[in-house]
Amino acid sequence: MTTFGDPDAGPVDAIALGGDAVLPFACRHEDGTGSIDTVVKPRAIQCALSRVCGVCARPLTRPVAFVGSTDNADDNTFAFPPCHPQCALDLARQGLAAEIVTTGGFDMIRPSRRGGPVAFRPNSVIDRSPVMPAI
Ligand SMILES: [Zn+2]
Repeated sequence: MTTFGDPDAGPVDAIALGGDAVLPFACRHEDGTGSIDTVVKPRAIQCALSRVCGVCARPLTRPVAFVGSTDNADDNTFAFPPCHPQCALDLARQGLAAEIVTTGGFDMIRPSRRGGPVAFRPNSVIDRSPVMPAI
């Protein structure tokens, strides 16, 4: 008997957009729509509270990784929820992030005004590295 692919190998809860691009869990609305450059706030909160990866929605382990711009890394504040280091790298290589910061833990910063975005702050930076986009 021939089987095609391992059903456990792929992301649990992500939608393939074609090629290697996958719509991250944190960017996907309940109906499956979304944009890879927009974080869906309830998903971001869910990732933080349930400690699941913002890309693949599997449980997080330590260390966790954050992806963002150089400004995000300088400010130690990120909009995209925590990810597995490999998921962060896969996401960053799609050209969506300039830096990856790994940490042992993080805080979620609730919006100061109603309707504002949530943010994430690594509380002990283990490593910070620029991302070289795959060409
Ligand atoms: Zn992941």
